[in-house]
Amino acid sequence: TMEALGHRIQQLATERPDHIALIDGETQLSWRELVERANRIANRLRAAGLEQGDAVAGLSENSIDYVALYLGTLVAGGCMVPLSGMASDSSLALMVEDCGARFLFVSRKNLSLFEAMADKLDTLGADQCIGLDCRGPGIGQDLESWLGDVDAEAQPAPVTLDDPFNIIYSSGTTGTPKGILHDYRFRQRQMVRMSRFGLDGDAINLVSTPMYSNTTLVSMLPTLFHGGTLVLMAKFDARRFLELAERYRVTHAMLVPVQYQRVLADPEFNRFDLSAFQLKLCTSAPLGAKVIQEAMERWPGNIREVYGLTEGGISTSLDCAAHPDKWDSVGLPTEGAEVRVIDEEGNELPQGETGEIVGRAISMMRGYVNREEQTREMLWTSPEDLVFYRSGDMGRIDDEGFVYILDRRKDMIISGGFNIYAVDLEKVLHAHPAVADVAVIGIPSEQWGETPLGLVVRKSGCTQDEGEILDWANGQLGKTQRLAAIEFRPELPRSTIGKVLKRELRAPYWA
Ligand code: ATP
Repeated sequence: TMEALGHRIQQLATERPDHIALIDGETQLSWRELVERANRIANRLRAAGLEQGDAVAGLSENSIDYVALYLGTLVAGGCMVPLSGMASDSSLALMVEDCGARFLFVSRKNLSLFEAMADKLDTLGADQCIGLDCRGPGIGQDLESWLGDVDAEAQPAPVTLDDPFNIIYSSGTTGTPKGILHDYRFRQRQMVRMSRFGLDGDAINLVSTPMYSNTTLVSMLPTLFHGGTLVLMAKFDARRFLELAERYRVTHAMLVPVQYQRVLADPEFNRFDLSAFQLKLCTSAPLGAKVIQEAMERWPGNIREVYGLTEGGISTSLDCAAHPDKWDSVGLPTEGAEVRVIDEEGNELPQGETGEIVGRAISMMRGYVNREEQTREMLWTSPEDLVFYRSGDMGRIDDEGFVYILDRRKDMIISGGFNIYAVDLEKVLHAHPAVADVAVIGIPSEQWGETPLGLVVRKSGCTQDEGEILDWANGQLGKTQRLAAIEFRPELPRSTIGKVLKRELRAPYWA
């Protein structure tokens, strides 16, 4: 077993005191400095009444102090709850109440959101709300004055594998926020798995997705555990990403698909020296063979695409260099994980057939906070009485065990009795030279119940019209898959971690 992170970092402070732990803009923090900062936060939290297992919420963009807060909370034995600055004030108030946060740390950029939220919340007093880099109405103090002259040495709280590590509220693409509780066991096992991808003490990991997303934590926490270096971006920008990657000789990055597209589309891409890259990770939405191909050709280092849910339980990964013929898949189940496919009635389907993906793995959440019933609904029990998680994704497994994700069950289009999976149609449209971005959704049809509509963002300078693209795509699609129409859009709405918000796109057609 591995040490708990709060204990582990104490070792790092003595083993590699001067190794750079964090880089943010022009500021760099060594491991000794980071651990001192985390310890001061831990001591201060305890002095203010934090007890083992208490939740500490954060509402901030990526920053050095946000990472220190995360670690400090763990040192104190607390449970970190990173909140999304893209969530609405009312859903944030629900989250803070739901997890029973004892403290809330807010950054300047989130002050107005905090104020709107605080109006809807009466569980936190001003003395429990601390500004990371600011003061404001409803905020007692800023971090620096709150810390005062507290000691920089701390005794990390004793924790067991069953203790809470963090709660992540689901990103909300499906509606009501649910708090996903991860314990130490979950995080330790994930860290072991990610270490195999070279995320070790020599890793320089460029973190450009927000810390409230599990996508970020999956690669950020193992880097910290092994004493590597994190280069932080508060806000993603393709050019800035390239500059940082070159300047700090970045070895690893976890990026969502839309970030790959933007980085590769930068006209100056070839000017940057990215030769230090060892591995790029990708998760949260399909990366697509076309983007993989371009990235493999132009961007040094391998790509590993990861498929999973924040809840855990389902985990596959694709080594792109090793399996060039499987780029449409999300790879094979990771060690200790198993994936199966079930039908609507919950019966297991034979290999090769399409249905809902279910999985089990060595890391699974403890459950949704205060939602026992929803936790149970997520489970599927196999004929041999093994417990699997339902993914809500439609997919299939090929004869070599590679897993293919076709669509979210809720996004699947049922047209004239046939199931249409958006990914199949999107793949065809993506191959058209004028198409920069695309999403296929189901819209009402008198004849078929539902019918697929292609929403397309054209590449700048392209003049093809809707009809040309429609005919071209339908010429390649099966009879039961044909698109009813194409509509051009200036851009597609996406969640902060780059998932196309299909619910939002569908809504006006079904109103
Ligand atoms: P919410 O529950 O609020 O909708 P979410 O489900 O988007 O949030 P996550 O747990 O981060 O939150 O997302 C898991 C989902 O993301 C999977 O069920 C799948 O649909 C999608 N996904 C993740 N990785 C991949 C991948 N590599 N390829 C395709 N889809 C992926």
